[in-house]
Amino acid sequence: MAETIACAICGAERPTELVEKTTVATISPLEADICAACQLVQDHALADTVCMQCGADADSGFYIELEFPLGVTELPGRLTGGLCGDCAADIACRINYEGVDADPEAKEELTALIDEEADRRQTQPATSSPTGGRS
Ligand SMILES: [Zn+2]
Ligand SMILES: [Zn+2]
Repeated sequence: MAETIACAICGAERPTELVEKTTVATISPLEADICAACQLVQDHALADTVCMQCGADADSGFYIELEFPLGVTELPGRLTGGLCGDCAADIACRINYEGVDADPEAKEELTALIDEEADRRQTQPATSSPTGGRS
């Protein structure tokens, strides 16, 4: 029976020859048993001038630094990189929406606002504009 080692990041049991006691960019200089696939993913770094999300030129974009628990053994992960303006805006927007989603009161308020807006559109036919600029 082939020997296996559990990868500290993905938790999968891998044949010993595919797991190395090594470090990867996200946890450097810490070492752990990391499988070849996770090494590739964690060591894969784009240039700071390339957007981490879409690969677009992020030269004039945003630089972010994240710390997070990495993988099943919650290694101290760290990630730095660039985001282009579009992706930064997209992520910020998503964080805001999900923040509201996580707050029941705010979510109710938002739902009420959207309903109100929908009602207003129904009672106000698109043909009669309140500013009435046409003459
Ligand atoms: Zn792994
Ligand atoms: Zn991008």
